[in-house]
Amino acid sequence: MPPPLSENALVRRIAIQGLTPERLQAAAPDLLDLSHARRLVGHVLHHGHDDLAVRDFSRARVASLGARFHVPSLAVVERRRSPRDGFVKYLFRLADGAQIEAVRIPLFDTKYVVCVSSQVGCALGCVFCATGRMGFVRDLEPWEIVEQVRTIRREADRPVRGVVFMGMGEPLLNYEGVIAAAYAMSDPSSLAIAKKAITISTAGVVPAIRRFTDEGHDFRLAVSLTAGTHEKRRALMPIERKWPIEELIESVRAYATATGNRVTLEYVAIAGVNCGADDATALAALLRGISIRFNLIEVNDAGGEFSPPDAAELAAFRDALQVLGQPIVRRYSGGKDVQAACGMLAATSDGGQLLG
Ligand code: SF4
Repeated sequence: MPPPLSENALVRRIAIQGLTPERLQAAAPDLLDLSHARRLVGHVLHHGHDDLAVRDFSRARVASLGARFHVPSLAVVERRRSPRDGFVKYLFRLADGAQIEAVRIPLFDTKYVVCVSSQVGCALGCVFCATGRMGFVRDLEPWEIVEQVRTIRREADRPVRGVVFMGMGEPLLNYEGVIAAAYAMSDPSSLAIAKKAITISTAGVVPAIRRFTDEGHDFRLAVSLTAGTHEKRRALMPIERKWPIEELIESVRAYATATGNRVTLEYVAIAGVNCGADDATALAALLRGISIRFNLIEVNDAGGEFSPPDAAELAAFRDALQVLGQPIVRRYSGGKDVQAACGMLAATSDGGQLLG
C-alpha cells in the first residue's frame, strides 16, 4: 500500500494527479464515494482534463471539490526530438521555477516508455552523470512525477505502456513520493501503467531496497552497479562509501529471493575503467547465485571525461561476462544528440527544436 497522506497534504489543496481513487476518497469521504473518486481520477488522468467538472457531478459538488483539490500542471519549456532515433526530451518548469527533464522513449514502433525524474538535481554525485553535478535541490511531489507522464501521454501518438524512474534524482531517496506516484499512475482508472511495467531504479540505497522488499510492491527494481569491487565503485559512485557493494548485493539477493523476480543490474561501461577481464571475474564472484539481467550501457559523459568502450573492448567484456550464466543485454541509450541519454539530464535548455 502507498504511505498515508501527510497532515500537510490535508490542509493544502491536494493535486488529483498524485492520488489513487482510494486515497482521493479517503481525503473527502463527505464528497465522494469510491465510484465518484474513480470517475474523477479517470476524468483528470485517463481523459486528460485539467478541471474537476466530471460529467454528472453537480455544480455544488464541483465547487466543494475545488476548495480542497486542484489539477496543477508543469510548464513545458522545451521538447527536443532526436531525428536519429525519435527519443524526445521534455524540459519542464515547476511552480517554484526549478526545472526537470523527462524522456519519451519509442519502443517497437508501437508504444512509448517514459523516463521520469524523481528529484530536482541529485545528492549522489556519480562522476559520470550530469545530474550529479547539479547537486540536490528538492524531492518531487507525487503529482509532479505523475504529471510528467500525463503531459507526455496527452500529446503522444501511441500509448504509453511503461515508466522508468531513471531520470534526474535518486528515486529511493524520495521513497514515499516515488511509491505514491507509482501507485497513482498504475491505477486502472488513471494512467493504467501495469505495475510490472514500472521500474524503479536505485544507485544502491540499501535500507530502502530492504524496505521495498519488505513492503512487497509489484513494481520492478533496477540497481545501478557499474563496478565489481569496492575500490572501483567508490571512485565512480560516492554512495559506495555509505553502502558498500557487498551490503548492496546482499540486499539485492534478498529481494530476488523474496520476490522471485530477476533484478536488473545497470552497468555504465567506461573505456579503460570497468570493462576488463578482472572486472568480469569480480562480478562473477559477487553475483553468483542471484537471478539477474545484466544491462550494459555505454557511458554518455557530456563533460567529456569518460568515453565509451570501443566495439572490441565491449565485445571482450561481454564475452567474459558469459560466465555469469545470466542474460546480458547491451542497452540502447538513445537521444544522445539531444542530451536525452542516460547520464545526460541536466535540466538545461539549449534552444532546441520545439515540437507540437
Ligand atoms: Fe544521481 Fe542517478 Fe546521476 Fe547517480 S546516476 S548522480 S544517482 S541521477
